[in-house]
Amino acid sequence: MASGRVQGKVAVVTGGARGIGAEIGRLLAAEGATVVVADLAPAKDIPTSAEGGPADYRRVDVTDEASVRAAFDDIVATHGRIDVLVNNAGVPGPIKPSHEVVEEEYDLLFAVDVKGVWLCTKHAVRHMLERGGGSVINMSSIYGLVGGARIPLYHAAKGAVRMMTKADAATYATSDIRVNSVHPGSIETQLSTSLSADPSPEAAAYAQRMLDNTPVGHRGTPEDIAYGVLYLASDESRFVTGTELVVDGGYTAV
Ligand code: NAD
Repeated sequence: MASGRVQGKVAVVTGGARGIGAEIGRLLAAEGATVVVADLAPAKDIPTSAEGGPADYRRVDVTDEASVRAAFDDIVATHGRIDVLVNNAGVPGPIKPSHEVVEEEYDLLFAVDVKGVWLCTKHAVRHMLERGGGSVINMSSIYGLVGGARIPLYHAAKGAVRMMTKADAATYATSDIRVNSVHPGSIETQLSTSLSADPSPEAAAYAQRMLDNTPVGHRGTPEDIAYGVLYLASDESRFVTGTELVVDGGYTAV
């Protein structure tokens, strides 16, 4: 039952075309926000407001500063301000040990998952400083909290997102800009399916290990993550900055 928890706010959700980002967009819109999706995907792949989706959309490559700057300036010109930025766009990167990863794979992973968070923060915060506040929510992962053997560089990238969050929280606290990270466990989306979909025994073992290590005994849904983001986007969390919101069915508790 929606009750306007982010009523009147303008929220930008990167990677909001599908998966966790699409659900964040839907929930923030249902709770009263004007949601703008910023995604690499073409307009035809974006949920419409008639489907409970975002009010607006900008095609953005988060790795490209000119694209991010133009989109964020245009969003402010159209909607007046940015109150909430959800840095959700991300890719898993290569499923390989570090010594087998090639430079292009490393560069793409860090361009999307780390540089993209920095660039979108940079161009949203410019406007938040002018307006006097805001909430930035960075999508890290449980893999930004603990290590693991299968996708080592993803752990490194999500660890960087966690620390960027804390440093930015300290930097902008006196400007009323809060910065927090969210750390999902295994959530049913295209990204997580791609990690366990290949027919190798390692992939099946990985999927089983994820489940075995999740005390609640099942994977989460995009909605489980969206409710955490909703709290951090709303004024209910006005004293919360630099924190790590772990939403993982207990994975990191054991
Ligand atoms: P997904 O692959 O379903 O969706 C990712 C979205 O990001 C897509 O819409 C894609 O078009 C967009 N995107 C990718 N590169 C982009 C770019 N350069 N510029 C703009 N948009 C771009 O992924 P998901 O599972 O919904 O994951 C969302 C976030 O949550 C990611 O940051 C991911 O690392 C994180 N996460 C996911 C899980 C999980 O189990 N699914 C667990 C922990 C963390």
